[in-house]
Amino acid sequence: MIIYNTLARKTEQFKPIGDKVKIYTCGMTVYSHPHIGNWVAFIYWDVLVSALKSAGFNTERVQNITDVGHLTSDEDAGEDKMLKGAFKEGKSAWEIAEKYINIATTEAQQLNLSKPDHMPRATEYINEQIQFVKELEGKGLTYRLSDGVYFDTSKLKNYGELARLDIGGLRFGARVKDTGKKNPTDFAVWKLSSPNEKRDMEWDSPWGIGFPGWHLECSVMAREILGDQIDIHTGGIDLIPVHHTNEIAQTEALTGKTFSNYWVHVNHLKVNGTKMSKSLGNVYTLQDIINKGFSPIAFKLLILSKHYRTEGNFTWEIMQAAQNRLKHWQSVAALKWQPLSKEPSEALNNVEQAIKHDITNNLLNDLDTPAAISSIDKRLSEIYSTGISKQNVEAFKRYLNAIDGAFRLDLSGQTDISVDLKKLLEQRSLARRQKDWVKADRLRDRLKEQGIEVDDTSNGQIWTRS
Ligand SMILES: [Zn+2]
Repeated sequence: MIIYNTLARKTEQFKPIGDKVKIYTCGMTVYSHPHIGNWVAFIYWDVLVSALKSAGFNTERVQNITDVGHLTSDEDAGEDKMLKGAFKEGKSAWEIAEKYINIATTEAQQLNLSKPDHMPRATEYINEQIQFVKELEGKGLTYRLSDGVYFDTSKLKNYGELARLDIGGLRFGARVKDTGKKNPTDFAVWKLSSPNEKRDMEWDSPWGIGFPGWHLECSVMAREILGDQIDIHTGGIDLIPVHHTNEIAQTEALTGKTFSNYWVHVNHLKVNGTKMSKSLGNVYTLQDIINKGFSPIAFKLLILSKHYRTEGNFTWEIMQAAQNRLKHWQSVAALKWQPLSKEPSEALNNVEQAIKHDITNNLLNDLDTPAAISSIDKRLSEIYSTGISKQNVEAFKRYLNAIDGAFRLDLSGQTDISVDLKKLLEQRSLARRQKDWVKADRLRDRLKEQGIEVDDTSNGQIWTRS
């Protein structure tokens, strides 16, 4: 497998450290309803795991849940996201976390994403985070200010390597704010609650009552669950300059080892070519998509039709096109119940080769999902036009299983129609042979009422669920 490594700024041959590929994914911050852009990364990482499995690797994946407030600004200032969400809804931060964890879990199921092996919550690892800061402190890498404990980034030679940060320029150009920080890139590892506030989420620590810095949780949970070194760390490109840069700084300063060998980042999704924002009213959720009558699986197909490293665009027209494509694929999948053709389809001649050509090879080539989707589309269209024969059924099922193995689109899970519906189809076929068009049309309407559409092809009637 080759994969683009942000750390090296190029595609590289993937080589794991051990016999199990260890993956860490920055998860959701559960302070509001996730929007469709939040799902993009998780859709690709699910495919990344299937691709690794198809290449014969075992995987162990951690995806955290950020349920402790981090601040709206990356500079350790601004409002606490969880508290802000809680205040808005008249709930406690704990209730807000619970509510949005439940929503995110439901939507992940609607997208048919596989569950990561571990989904730890930041609040479950407070003691470990305190321990981590104590270790950093013991190594002389932190200093204390009145509002918390800060990591001193000038102690690291290669700070900012991932983001190619121009540290000199940053230090020179930084606006001098009254933060008291030694360097503009320094960041909080423990923030103290201010003396006149009682926070919903705060914990006692050797430095006083407060809460962990945002970057800390990922370093700590990755280390606790996967160990000092991991193979692949994933996230959105917006996380590169601060969050991932600081994860690397803390972990590598502590362990003296490379934290992750590969850093894989997904690009943004825009809506109508612009950034999603509340003020533009273009922030959509998966629920909005479902409410408009679209399938969440079609949304997944929309996302996979572009490469994870290119910027995506969402419009309702593109959504409709994805829904049409999914419906077409489902129609083709239903052919496994209707092997009507006398000749076997050439598109299924060598199914192992077809799977390798269309799916495996594309995914192992830096997760080229658009190439895979268009190859599959071509083959399925060909299969639909030729029809399948009895000889093709097993090969066709294998092909559908391979698509689902990679993308989890639930094509292979579709069931046959009932005996009653089959009887109606036979009657319609007979009416057509007898040139009784009125009766044939009436039967078509009856089938339609029961959710079955009929297409008359050279091989005979083909049914599809509407
Ligand atoms: Zn993270």
